[in-house]
Amino acid sequence: MEGQIELQFDAPVRDRITPDGGEFGAPRWYGGHKGVDFRSNWGTEVRASERGRVVFSGMREGTKNETRYGNVVVIDHTFEARCGGRYLYTLYAHMHTRRARRKYIVEKNEVIGTTGNSGTRESYSGAQPKDQKGYHLHFELIDSPRKLRWGGENWYSKFLRKDPFKGYIGSTIILDCEEVAANNMTRFGISLKSRSFGRHYKM
Ligand SMILES: [Zn+2]
Repeated sequence: MEGQIELQFDAPVRDRITPDGGEFGAPRWYGGHKGVDFRSNWGTEVRASERGRVVFSGMREGTKNETRYGNVVVIDHTFEARCGGRYLYTLYAHMHTRRARRKYIVEKNEVIGTTGNSGTRESYSGAQPKDQKGYHLHFELIDSPRKLRWGGENWYSKFLRKDPFKGYIGSTIILDCEEVAANNMTRFGISLKSRSFGRHYKM
């Protein structure tokens, strides 16, 4: 079944982007920083940038010397359809808590966790919430020509991560889909006539 998906990504937290090298592509903390860091106080609610299906929710431990993702959630925003070889994902890292479970669908702006410093060098050096060291949300937007697997160690996203503020957040993305996976919808108990789909699907 052909159709269109309309996506409108929002910033995952309302706080400001860090001024100290938090911009996309800045060589910060680990080689080739390919995300945007949002400065944020400990415990700030993190919201799904757009509706999607959670494809990863877990911990990626770092060390005292190497920052990794920590508590990280990945959302697939094109799980419902095949859209001209375009697959869009968002990734939320260093969270204190995760409130999203794999395989579940989250609505746009639904809380999927709270900010922290998990996985950061600061956290392994004993930084406490009151210190506010390393507390930020690391956010990535991945625009891939192929479907990605998020279970293993290699997440493929190295060359596919885009600047979320260039053509994504604040823009409307309309994807023409050659195939809307009806079986997926029934599997997740979603009907094309459902309210939430009406907003996103134009059949
Ligand atoms: Zn970052």
